[in-house]
Amino acid sequence: MGSWKFSQLVVALNTWYNMVMKKPIDILTKDFVTQAVQEGKRSREIARETGLNDRTIRWYFRKYNLQVPKWNIHKVWNKDKKAVDDIRIKVAIEAAHEARRGNGSWNKGLKLPPLKKETKAKISKSLKGKYVGIKSSNWKGEKASYSRKHKWLSAEYNKEGICAHCKIQKPTEWANISQKYLRNRKDYIELCRQCHVKYDMSKGIRFGRKPS
Ligand SMILES: [Zn+2]
Repeated sequence: MGSWKFSQLVVALNTWYNMVMKKPIDILTKDFVTQAVQEGKRSREIARETGLNDRTIRWYFRKYNLQVPKWNIHKVWNKDKKAVDDIRIKVAIEAAHEARRGNGSWNKGLKLPPLKKETKAKISKSLKGKYVGIKSSNWKGEKASYSRKHKWLSAEYNKEGICAHCKIQKPTEWANISQKYLRNRKDYIELCRQCHVKYDMSKGIRFGRKPS
């Protein structure tokens, strides 16, 4: 345990020294990089030891024309490692435990900056119609479930936001006419919540107290 800590300290000091005192070109000399590769070191290992970016190291691999096997560049950092070997795994596990103890998830309180309205609109515009309907690989035609059909409907047709029955502008729902939920716009009318319930009850689909 003691020697492990010492070697970590050496690497940390070396990293700090390199970051403060040297430029990448000073550290990653042809001799240094060539030797590291010959020793079988991966780009990540060199990156950790020098305090430089993994990408920088790989850039120097190319610069010096070093033949590095693919697995040498991309290796999963925690492969073949146990929690006792690596401080980062320990920290990650402890953080996960801590989060569970405080009954919050690891990303609780983490918040990405909200998307701008224009950005949202752009995304929605570019996605519209791309993954819905017949183009979707999940297309099941008339066998699709009730909610699936409603999703299809709302993706395919824009609601006007006016109830077809009471003609009042308010949030509307798609009401089915034939009770077969066909993949056909003509099989649906746009009704407000109240009219929808009344409509369904009049058809015997829905039972219960009539909304006032
Ligand atoms: Zn209505």
